[in-house]
Amino acid sequence: MADTLAKTLPADRLRPLREAVRALTRLADGQSSEAVFLTEGREILAQLISQDDWLEDDFRRTHPEYYQQYLLYCDPHERFSLQSFVWGPGQSTPIHDHTVWGLVGVLQGAESCMRYRQTAEGLVPEGSTVILERGSVDAVSPTVGDIHKVSNAFSDRTSISIHIYGANIGNTRRHVFDVNTGAQKDFVSGYSFNRLPNLWDQSAGIRAQVHQGASASA
Ligand code: FE
Repeated sequence: MADTLAKTLPADRLRPLREAVRALTRLADGQSSEAVFLTEGREILAQLISQDDWLEDDFRRTHPEYYQQYLLYCDPHERFSLQSFVWGPGQSTPIHDHTVWGLVGVLQGAESCMRYRQTAEGLVPEGSTVILERGSVDAVSPTVGDIHKVSNAFSDRTSISIHIYGANIGNTRRHVFDVNTGAQKDFVSGYSFNRLPNLWDQSAGIRAQVHQGASASA
């Protein structure tokens, strides 16, 4: 009976995102350290990006010139936030930092990432360019390395990544860097859209249960 019911209920499309929000809230409520967020949060993000049909079209739109940063959820106490980053063909960020921990999981396409370190002589590249393939998760923070440049690895298609940060990242003061001089400039990214997915409307499934209950007892 339960199986039959599950098969006939309308899809709860945003359930994966809601489950991730709940899991992250549990970590935040447990006063989790950055290290815990970077390990357990990584698992939560890997699970979230293991399928991509939950992300609605409004949060996958490209802009002809700039990569887009859509807020998907912000914790009421701004202890963490989730975003979709949408990269048109060939688009990239400037070299930037985050000032808080962050996790980047590739949902669609692939991204290339170059890390930098700040020294007395300016910015020094750390290692070589890393390609983040679909399904992989990368971490940033002032502790594990916070300065990088991210680009769409493709010049002919869109790439999308899902990010989790230890703050309301759109409101966070951070920095962009000049690759030649190492000079840093303050910036606040904001968000590309003023609406968020409605995680909390689960009425279609509940309504279907009500109707099924009514027809079973009829
Ligand atoms: Fe970044």
